[in-house]
Amino acid sequence: MKILISGAGIAGPALAFWLRRAGFEPTVVELAEAPRPGGQTVDVRGIAREVVERMVLMPAVLDRRMHERGLAYVRADGRRTAAMPADFLDGAGPVAEIEILRGDLSKILLDATSTGVEYLYGDSITQLDQDDTGVQVTFRSGAERRFDLVVGADGVHSRVRSLAFGPEAQYVEHLGGYGSFFTVKTPEPLDGWMKIHSAPGGRWVGLRPDHDPQYAKALLSFRSPLLPRLKQAEQKDLLTKTFAGVGWHAPYLLDALHDADDFYFDTTSRVVVPEWSRGRIVLLGDAGYCGSPLAGHGTALSLVGAYVLAGELAAYDGDHARAFPAYQRELQPYVEQRMELPPGGVKMAMPMTALGIRLRDASTRLMMSRPFRPLLAKLAATQPDAITLKSPATTNRG
Ligand SMILES: Cc1cc2nc3c(=O)[nH]c(=O)nc-3n(C[C@H](O)[C@H](O)[C@H](O)COP(=O)(O)OP(=O)(O)OC[C@H]3O[C@@H](n4cnc5c(N)ncnc54)[C@H](O)[C@@H]3O)c2cc1C
Repeated sequence: MKILISGAGIAGPALAFWLRRAGFEPTVVELAEAPRPGGQTVDVRGIAREVVERMVLMPAVLDRRMHERGLAYVRADGRRTAAMPADFLDGAGPVAEIEILRGDLSKILLDATSTGVEYLYGDSITQLDQDDTGVQVTFRSGAERRFDLVVGADGVHSRVRSLAFGPEAQYVEHLGGYGSFFTVKTPEPLDGWMKIHSAPGGRWVGLRPDHDPQYAKALLSFRSPLLPRLKQAEQKDLLTKTFAGVGWHAPYLLDALHDADDFYFDTTSRVVVPEWSRGRIVLLGDAGYCGSPLAGHGTALSLVGAYVLAGELAAYDGDHARAFPAYQRELQPYVEQRMELPPGGVKMAMPMTALGIRLRDASTRLMMSRPFRPLLAKLAATQPDAITLKSPATTNRG
């Protein structure tokens, strides 16, 4: 049974892994010309950790594990105003128990699927026509092929979703911000700390540790209403205008972003799709459910979603009419739980005024103070994941 997956980020290769193991024939088509290395640190916690264990990829993940010491807010002159150490809330705080660079995790998943999975880079789906027996797929390259099923794992701006489910505006809610990530030579030693400088106007300048202490993962985020889709050169111009006059390392990063080969820029958006499948076509990961980087569980949802989708396809021996609804039934409570935004959303995280920034720093210091810590830890204790994993996917195909 041939299954086409659009997108080789996190969800796509994770699904290919389990499908191949269950005896299906996965093909992955990726718009980029080569694996996309970018992204900041993402976390593998809770049930997602269990999925990585079952893939027997935990040694590889631990090998590339980041050891961040925490998050520190700094002023324009670099002086620290507030900090949250990594052990805050026993690893349930902003810096989690197992942190890994998104690019490293993606590479681990791609390496684990380098045999038995067909990867088509530098191409994209342009048309999907499904009938009772399969899906006729037209590619941008002009190729036409037939698959039994098609999976959209192509992120927030999913092409599969817009072709099979309707325009993006129906499903993607802009939360009022944009974020950009890229790698730079670090302008200062970070000593394991993620550092954020907030400037009035809801602007964030950040640096996060890389494996190589000479480098850092840079972050430029700002509040903004939804803008028309921009080309990469326009995105860089917009950042230059938006961060003009901001202190700390902003001028350095605005200069460095022109040389970055892993520049990434996107809206801060939530994706809600009421029904994740249309006939033989189904959505996975950010394409179907995404709480935005503010909610912070995108990687976990993709890893767990891939496991459940492959598991149901295997259990129903490829019968999508039964497997796709079962996938949604099983995963939905967990998705809803992990898409919840932190209180105050973008407004709280990215204050508009100097006073707002001072209040955020003061409340962070208060939360971190000795009398408050235990109380807060109790309040914020992570709820158990709203899903139990079934046994790994198997069919008589494999
Ligand atoms: C380069 C990059 C950096 C990121 N950095 C961060 C980060 O620092 N922090 C964070 O919280 N989240 C980040 N994200 C998002 C994060 O990876 C996802 O929220 C999460 O892991 C879910 O993964 P996903 O596989 O569903 O989506 P993604 O990881 O976004 O992967 C989707 C893949 O689909 C590909 N694609 C897009 N359109 C098409 C198309 N038309 N045809 C074929 N392929 C297509 C993309 O190139 C990408 O490889 C980043 C995503 C990318 C692509």
